[in-house]
Amino acid sequence: MSSKNNDLSRVDMHVHSKYSHDCSTSLEDIGEAMKRKHVGVALTDHNEVQGSLNLKKLYPKALIIPAIEVTSVNSKDLLLYFDKHSELSAFYERHIKPNKKLTRRINKTTLSTNYILDIASDYNAFRVLPHPFMRIKGSFRKIKKDPSTLKFVDGIEVLNASKSKKDNQKSVEWCKELNMPFTAGSDSHILSTLGNARIISKANTPSLIMDEIKKKQVEVEGESDGFLGNVRGIGAIVRNKLTKRRI
Ligand SMILES: [Zn+2]
Repeated sequence: MSSKNNDLSRVDMHVHSKYSHDCSTSLEDIGEAMKRKHVGVALTDHNEVQGSLNLKKLYPKALIIPAIEVTSVNSKDLLLYFDKHSELSAFYERHIKPNKKLTRRINKTTLSTNYILDIASDYNAFRVLPHPFMRIKGSFRKIKKDPSTLKFVDGIEVLNASKSKKDNQKSVEWCKELNMPFTAGSDSHILSTLGNARIISKANTPSLIMDEIKKKQVEVEGESDGFLGNVRGIGAIVRNKLTKRRI
């Protein structure tokens, strides 16, 4: 299974499976879609890692970045990416599994946002704020007024295919202000949207791709939700701006 096309790797950095409480997509369907669409994935299930571990077992040669989307006690979603599945698993077993709060409607942890981000660094996690300007839960608008969380953050998801173009543009502008690394993902909860936003990298292994993300050497491409169209240019703007700043 290859996620390479024209010698570039494309990775959807935000995908959900049936191991998330709000998704029913099977791992086999995800594996087939990855092959068909030539895209790797970070399986970022809500407060759960079994899907990512099983996907790696099912498709050992596929480009799968170890990851999880953790929700803090005040309902902030946090994307955490790891170099190895062993680190993801150790982090989950020690910190997330014993602190989950699950009801019919709620799936989050009892941990604070800053605590989650802080302990994740002990496992070499790359810590990203997803959909920072989401309208309901999970918005990080307040961080602009109280930036104490930002010292624990490594990157911003500047393109989320399930969010509006306007929200994604705000994310791009904020990322440029912060001069931070950036990622993109579909936030797919149904199979058909898998791959609708992704990063493009010259690297071809999870750890090398994460290195490229940290160095801002990736591009992002994809769509905002439905009719709002393609925002491929936004990634290029981020890249150019950051390149200029590096020079
Ligand atoms: Zn998500």
